[in-house]
Amino acid sequence: MSTDRDGKKLVRSPSGLRMLPENRALGSPFCLEEPQWIPDKEAILGGYLFMQCPRCMHCEAKFDFITRKHHCRRCGKCFCDKCCSKKVPLPRMCFVDPVRQCGECSVISQKEMEFYDRQLKVLMNGATFSITQGFSEKPETVMCRLSNNHRYLFLDGENHYEIEVARVSTVQILTEGFTPGGGNSRATGMLIQYKPQGSSELLQMKFTTSEDFTCNKKMAASWLAAMHKAAKFLYESRDQ
Ligand SMILES: [Zn+2]
Ligand SMILES: [Zn+2]
Repeated sequence: MSTDRDGKKLVRSPSGLRMLPENRALGSPFCLEEPQWIPDKEAILGGYLFMQCPRCMHCEAKFDFITRKHHCRRCGKCFCDKCCSKKVPLPRMCFVDPVRQCGECSVISQKEMEFYDRQLKVLMNGATFSITQGFSEKPETVMCRLSNNHRYLFLDGENHYEIEVARVSTVQILTEGFTPGGGNSRATGMLIQYKPQGSSELLQMKFTTSEDFTCNKKMAASWLAAMHKAAKFLYESRDQ
């Protein structure tokens, strides 16, 4: 059985201090790799000495002894101090402290903070669903929550199931209350496809907010909304 708690260690990278799992394979599926920094050294090409990144990649200010260059920790591009002065938390790269980011990246990172501050907690707190697997007709009531290391969905009812988040290939949120323009629809369930550990067979599981009195529909709806956001993060990490 997988453990919910994994060892972590502090690692110093040129960008800052990071808290990484001791085993790289056990990282959170929401994490992104650090970018390769655009080289900022002088290089010799065809006998000429030239600067690989002579200007700020945003405002085009020329770098010299006064206008120093900085690398954005998220995209790895070169910027002047003015265009790369914001220090913003970047939990997706496991940085312990806020790190220097360019304007564009700091906006993205700030938006992601909401996921880390709120939705991730909702997912880890869990919610009750009625699940059906594959073509099975018999629903089971389970408490579904994201493990503390973000790597598994734990489903606990009469049986215990573990679904590895990295092996989930599609997440489809089911809604009801369609209105033209898409507003006011409420999440009522989720259809996921995943490969169980050690198998390449794709299985399907359907989650619905059950009519059962133990099921708090509001909690289940927020859990589904959080899962919707989580799925976007996952596909983004995989596209890289
Ligand atoms: Zn600039
Ligand atoms: Zn950037």
